[in-house]
Amino acid sequence: MSSPFDYFKYKENNLSVEGLSLEEIANQTGTPVYVYSKEAFLKPLKKLQKGLKGLDHLICFAVKAYSNIAVLKLLNQAGAGMDLVSGGELLRALKAGVDPKAIVFSGVGKTAGEIIEALEQGIFSFNVESVAELAMISAIAEHAGKKAPVALRFNPDVDAKTHPYISTGLKKNKFGIQKAEILRLARNIGSFGGIELKGISIHIGSQLLSLSPLDDAFVKTRNLVEELNAILPQPLAFVDLGGGLGINYSREKAPTIKRYTDLIQRRFGPKSKMKHPLKILIEPGRTIAGNAGVLLTEVIYKKDRGKKQFLIVDAGMNDLLRPALYGSYHEIVPADQSLSRGPKKSTDVVGPVCESSDCFASDRALSGKIGSGDLLAILSAGAYGFSMANNYNTRPRPPEVLVSGDRFEIIRDREQYDDLFRGEHY
Ligand SMILES: *Cc1c(COP(=O)(O)O)cnc(C)c1O
Repeated sequence: MSSPFDYFKYKENNLSVEGLSLEEIANQTGTPVYVYSKEAFLKPLKKLQKGLKGLDHLICFAVKAYSNIAVLKLLNQAGAGMDLVSGGELLRALKAGVDPKAIVFSGVGKTAGEIIEALEQGIFSFNVESVAELAMISAIAEHAGKKAPVALRFNPDVDAKTHPYISTGLKKNKFGIQKAEILRLARNIGSFGGIELKGISIHIGSQLLSLSPLDDAFVKTRNLVEELNAILPQPLAFVDLGGGLGINYSREKAPTIKRYTDLIQRRFGPKSKMKHPLKILIEPGRTIAGNAGVLLTEVIYKKDRGKKQFLIVDAGMNDLLRPALYGSYHEIVPADQSLSRGPKKSTDVVGPVCESSDCFASDRALSGKIGSGDLLAILSAGAYGFSMANNYNTRPRPPEVLVSGDRFEIIRDREQYDDLFRGEHY
């Protein structure tokens, strides 16, 4: 379980990360700016590795959660592989120096071009989401005189009890293949000449705050594997258990990494009485990146409306989309703790974008002392923060810095206007 203030803490009134205050960083980079901690990325990865000890395993970081190449490199050097959902992410992983044998490719809509590229690189597995995709991969691989290693993504029809936009394991969701269909495919696998069926994958949703839907899915997956092994000429080599473990954005009680890995050990480990040992893959995204970053922003204007105040900040929904997209909660605190003392007012923290959903917090109790020129940190912005940022309202995306000890490096420059106009003909 990771929490917003695990790595971002006040030291003598200054919100700090590792050995630096956020104000020092903002003074050098300007705002808005994303600030990340190296230690905060590595700690959850280490806990996952420790929890899966004794199991043949591969932890594939879900690149879509956070995709800066410097951090992919950091995680890869600490032992992580990568889980991709696009050809662009494949290039990022390769630039980060990731061995293709530690890469899996998920997603419902892989194009022929993306499949060819990944096959040429020799990735560990395609996690296939439909019969049509299986046929496409098979044809491409046969044409290239290869066998494509494949896991079928099983839709276990369990309710992950998370936000509907990030729930993926129900029959009504577009993801995965139903059990009956998987069994049919397995009986017929000889007709797909370019396919080597090696595993089963699942991913039932994101920001899961209870292990019980995961456990339901794990048990269904185990049972499916046993049934498949009775049909297939060779037993399956691996299961990919997906990502999805939640984090704390506020006062939720997300399951700890230890409880999560204990569950994997119980269902798939040496004592699980599986007939054939399986390699275990997992695809954590948010668990690793979620609480590793904050978005720092400056208050431009304050608008007082009686009992209520609006803080209009220089970051917008284009920089951090989650609140607008999912109505998600992020802690917001001033970088200078002395500003949070004194009477609270009902506060909306809003961006400059011309949409009413451009709102980071509504009716939040924040101090009336905060005003124009003050620095605010929006916490838990490491996952699905920068990776979802866009240029709506012709706004350049913020720079990113990675803190390690008492130093920081810029791992992405602030976007310039010329970057935004590139490719336009006028
Ligand atoms: C998004 C995604 C993940 C990562 O999910 P988190 O909730 O960030 O851990 C893993 N696997 C697949 C297939 C995904 O689409």
